Amino acid sequence: MEITFVGKRAMVTGAGKGIGRATALALAHCGAEVTAVSRTQADLDSLKQECASITPVCVDLADWVTTEVALQDIGSIDLLVNNAACANLQPFLDVTPDQFDQSFSVNVKAVLQVSQIVARCMKDRGSGGSIVNVSSQASQCALKDHAVYCTTKAAVDMLTKVMALELGPHQIRVNSVNPTVVMTEMGRLGWSDPEKAKIMKSRIPLGHFAGQIQETVTNCPILLSLVSCSVRFDKKYEINSFLPL
Ligand code: NDP
Repeated sequence: MEITFVGKRAMVTGAGKGIGRATALALAHCGAEVTAVSRTQADLDSLKQECASITPVCVDLADWVTTEVALQDIGSIDLLVNNAACANLQPFLDVTPDQFDQSFSVNVKAVLQVSQIVARCMKDRGSGGSIVNVSSQASQCALKDHAVYCTTKAAVDMLTKVMALELGPHQIRVNSVNPTVVMTEMGRLGWSDPEKAKIMKSRIPLGHFAGQIQETVTNCPILLSLVSCSVRFDKKYEINSFLPL
């Protein structure tokens, strides 16, 4: 399947590493003019080296005010991928207020804020657009030591539904993708232990994690959702696998 985003402006958060980086590169490869938002300048420098057309924006999305300033001149965006997230793993009884607040700031509040900035502009232009929130199968499945992470992703799913409901009339599609494990830095943090991995893999029909991030993203629901998914209010809309189609 040929996907083209020629003439479109895209923004990807958390584009320094992992899935976000691969998504930014895939969008650029498909012809989009890409803005890559992330926290570590060195990651953005290497991304720029890999793909000169990408515009980097370095900001900590956990900071509302700094983010507002960093994105104030971002201009019109047609395609937004809210991908940035952190996974602070700990047993439920050890969760601290700081870990809770940090996770909700990045995984949920930043999705709201960045989407507001982009969607206001889409609405004013009357051009519509597409937003994909990268959620997780962890939004629906209880995972040991993932109390905060699972809760943030459940919040992302509901935020996605309300965004879809309110932004749909402005021709802005909003969808989530809910990947299973992808062996990025975050994936390795949670699933490097073979015993834990075995249980998780036994619940994945193909029996393995998504290994090749680049290949996975190119074929994955993120790009397909940007290009073609329509908003459904009455049916299950999540795409529950990140494995190649
Ligand atoms: P990685 O940890 O590999 O990459 C996350 C990227 O987001 C990094 O570039 C990171 O920058 C950036 N980021 C994190 N916090 C901030 C912040 N406060 N401000 C700006 N940028 C930030 O994660 P993945 O690629 O694995 O995950 C991407 C998305 O996919 C996430 O939403 C995750 O929840 C979801 N997901 C991942 C799965 C997996 O198994 N990997 C499974 C299901 C869902 P820096 O390194 O500088 O902090």
